[in-house]
Amino acid sequence: MNFPKKLSDKLETRKQNKSLRLLPKQNDLIDFASNDYIGFSKCEAIFSETHQFLLDRGMKSNGATGSRLLSGNHSLYTETENYIAQFHQSDSALIFNSGYDANVGFFSAVPQKGDLILYDELCHASIRDGIQLSNAKAYKFKHNDFEDLELLIQRNPNSLIYIVTESVFSMDGDCPNMEELAAVSVKYNCYLVVDEAHALGVFGEKGEGLIQHLLLQDKIFARIMTFGKGLGCHGAVVLGSNELKSYLINFARSFIYTTGLSPHSVATILLGYRHLEKDKNTLESLRENIVFFNQIKKMLYLNPLFVRSKSAIQSVIIPGNEKVKSIAAALQENGFDVKAILSPTVPEGQERLRFCLHSYNTKEDISKVLTLLSSFVY
Ligand code: PMP
Repeated sequence: MNFPKKLSDKLETRKQNKSLRLLPKQNDLIDFASNDYIGFSKCEAIFSETHQFLLDRGMKSNGATGSRLLSGNHSLYTETENYIAQFHQSDSALIFNSGYDANVGFFSAVPQKGDLILYDELCHASIRDGIQLSNAKAYKFKHNDFEDLELLIQRNPNSLIYIVTESVFSMDGDCPNMEELAAVSVKYNCYLVVDEAHALGVFGEKGEGLIQHLLLQDKIFARIMTFGKGLGCHGAVVLGSNELKSYLINFARSFIYTTGLSPHSVATILLGYRHLEKDKNTLESLRENIVFFNQIKKMLYLNPLFVRSKSAIQSVIIPGNEKVKSIAAALQENGFDVKAILSPTVPEGQERLRFCLHSYNTKEDISKVLTLLSSFVY
């Protein structure tokens, strides 16, 4: 059957700008690209403990068999959600199949017609897709600019307002001043929603995220944690009140109309959380590497090129798709997996190399990769 011409044309245009391709994972390179910040995706203890845990419980099932509202709500869900809620000092936790599903489910269901959503202009695609499905009005505010946010709030004095941000931005790695933002939210009686996808396993004594690290959990209406990054597996959770949980079970369509996660997936999440409680050295190694990366970057006079960040994501702006691609290729030829982020994924002129740091990167690798980088950019 013919592929529709308008789709072929669209694909051709995409190919001329930036074609998205599925490339094999390069396990032989030193990892400065994955979101596996604390190495949990390859943690043998979590792998074997999960297996044993399922055997001990007699849970030899490969799948959930249905939506959680029908046959899919196996017993591990409640146990894991209770554990996570306690870990995150939240009244409740509701697991979704992915961070994408959690954001789409939350934003399409919670803000109502007549409400207002004010979101940071750099919020993730999953948040923006959820907002598109919502009947509420939405405006973006300038990145981390709370004066701009306040102006928007003041222009809409009678609306119920949701403020949306990320505690670590996925492309820049920077963090908003959460204390200031929480104060703005309280001042105007808004509902603050924070995506902590890149903060779990990175900030907080046990990797609880930036909000708990700053003791702001009581000022936040909802937090979204995703498990595909710091926790090394997949899935996500929305943290909030019991009423919010109950509301989402009833109205979040990406929760209702999908098959639940398998017992194996949920057990991996639970065992991952248990490891956060005890693997403090791993978390400490990541933090040391973030500090070390920043020291070397400064020593090599690379600071002005980097976005300021204290997270595991460190982005160096190298304008122009061709230039940034060639530097990424050169780093890869030297054994380092560093990904180029091209326009239109980021605005033109903001093309970048995005370094993801991990607990398992060595100081030597960090020094080497930054020394190479400086020889290519200067
Ligand atoms: N939120 C943010 C900030 C993200 O970076 C991502 C993943 N790139 C998601 C949500 C989606 O999470 P998941 O991969 O679990 O769907």
